[in-house]
Amino acid sequence: MGPQEVTKDIYLVGGADITDPRDCAIYLLDLGELVLIDAGAGPSYAEIVRNIETLGLDLKKLKSLILTHCHIDHIGGAPRFRDAFGCRIIMHHLDAEAVERGDEGMTAASWYNLSFPPMPVAVKLTRDEERLRFGDQEVVCLHTPGHTPGSLSVYLDRGGTRVLFGQDIHGPFSEEFGSDLAAWRSSMERLLALEADILCEGHFGVYQPKESVTEYIKHYLEQYRDGAR
Ligand SMILES: [Zn+2]
Ligand SMILES: [Zn+2]
Repeated sequence: MGPQEVTKDIYLVGGADITDPRDCAIYLLDLGELVLIDAGAGPSYAEIVRNIETLGLDLKKLKSLILTHCHIDHIGGAPRFRDAFGCRIIMHHLDAEAVERGDEGMTAASWYNLSFPPMPVAVKLTRDEERLRFGDQEVVCLHTPGHTPGSLSVYLDRGGTRVLFGQDIHGPFSEEFGSDLAAWRSSMERLLALEADILCEGHFGVYQPKESVTEYIKHYLEQYRDGAR
C-alpha cells in the first residue's frame, strides 16, 4: 500500500502497511504549511520522506510535528525530521519529559528493541485544550490522558468536515506507561462529543462516516467497562 489522501489536504504517509510494521499511522496536513502528526518508529524515516515527495508536497514547508504521545512507534522518526527540516516538536508537557530524557521505558523503546536519544521539545502544551494556527487553519489539540498521561487528540474542521486524529485511543493500558482508565473514559467521552466525521486512528486506519467514528470509540468504552485486562 502506498501513501494516500484521507480527505482534502489530509494524507496518510506512513503506517504498518505502508512503511514499517513497527510504525503507527503517520498523517500529514497540507495547510499552506505542512504539519506532520506522529513520525513512526524511526527506521522508516527515508520512506516517509519519499512518500511525501510522491504526493507532490514540498518538504521545505514542513514546519511542525505534533507528537500525540511519547511512545517510540510515534516518536522514533522525530529527531530526524527535526534535524532535516528544522520543524518544531509539539507535545503535551506530561509526555514531553520522557522524550527530553530519552527514557527507554516510558517511550517503550526497549519493548521495540529500538533506542531513542534525548530530544528537546519546542512547544509543550499544558492546557486542556489548545488552539494552534497553521497557515489559515485552526487546529485544536485536546489533552486526552488515559493511554499515557500526556496523550493528545487533535482535530480540525476543514471544508465542512471535522477530522479527528485519535492515536492509540484503543489502548493498550499499562502501569509502566502511566495509563489511567478513569481518565481515559472521560477522554473518550470528550472525543464522542466532538461528533467527528472522520477518525484518523493510530494503528487501525481511518474510520468514517460519523456513525463509524462513534461506534469505534463506544466499542472500546464497552470493552474496558470492567477495567483493563
Ligand atoms: Zn502508544
Ligand atoms: Zn501506538
